[in-house]
Formats: sequence, structure tokens, C-alpha cells
Amino acid sequence: MNTTPNVWQEVMRGMKTWARLNSPWVLHFNTGSCNGCDIEILATLTPRYDLERLGVRLQASPRHADILLCTGAVTRQARDRLVRIYAQMHEPKCVVAIGSCALSGGVFQGCYNVLGGIEDVLPVDAYIPGCPPRPEAVIDGVVKLLDGLRARGRQGKADSQ
Ligand code: SF4
Repeated sequence: MNTTPNVWQEVMRGMKTWARLNSPWVLHFNTGSCNGCDIEILATLTPRYDLERLGVRLQASPRHADILLCTGAVTRQARDRLVRIYAQMHEPKCVVAIGSCALSGGVFQGCYNVLGGIEDVLPVDAYIPGCPPRPEAVIDGVVKLLDGLRARGRQGKADSQ
């Protein structure tokens, strides 16, 4: 059996990683937010703050998204949908928890229908605190996430998909 790495496969893998890091597509999901964080995300994506200048684009389908932006505490009603959306995203994928509620349940902690923060359900790659976090904080969090992924890629630890 030939175990020599296929050069073209390596080149294609590198190009895919380069493209994803330079133009990550994001999906936004509200797991139980009061909508404050969602309004800030929308402001971040609109021309005033213009997250698209960093190549970040909002996507409607989990099958086309690289990064899942989550807002709000996770409610019992939203949990299964959150897990299903995450499962539908292709690898490599990242999850960003936005706002105090997404980090820990925030002001909704202890409510009968609240399970906790996003990390109680999914692995989280970046946390953006605030109630709600301002667009500058969202941009800063996404840029730091992408820098971290680039550094992992340089060390050869990037996902090989
Ligand atoms: S962090 Fe604040 S703004 Fe965001 S969902 Fe929770 S209460 Fe609303």
C-alpha cells in the first residue's frame, strides 16, 4: 500500500484552510437570549461596523457555516436545536459564546427552563463577555479566534479536514 502523502491533497487542504480563515462564514443562533446580544451582532454585521471587511459573512445554513455565534442562556426548548445545528456544520467548526447569558446563563441562571451556558451543551472556542457586548468586543473576539486558529495552523495543529 502506498503511504506517500499525496502532494495535491496537501496543497488542497492548505488552500481550504487558508480560504476558511480568510473568509469564515458565520451562523447566528439565539438559544434563549433577550435579543440584546442579537441586536449587537446585527449591528456588527451591518456597514457601520462592517465585519465583512474581515471576510466574515453571515450564512443562513449550518451546512455552509464555519463559525456558530450563540447568544443567550440555553433553554430546554432550544437545546436539541442547538445540538442539531452544530451536528449539521462541517468540520472544522468553531463555536463562539456571546454575552454573559451564553457564557454562564447570566441573569437567567436558575430559571426552571434554563440549562446553563453554551459550554454546558457544546464545546466553546471563544467567549465574549458583556451584557450585551458592544460590536467592538464581538469583532475583537472573532479576530482573536481567527488569530488562534492561524497560530494552530502554523504549528500544524489545524484540523486536517
Ligand atoms: S447578556 Fe444581556 S443582552 Fe445578552 S441575552 Fe443576556 S441579558 Fe440579554
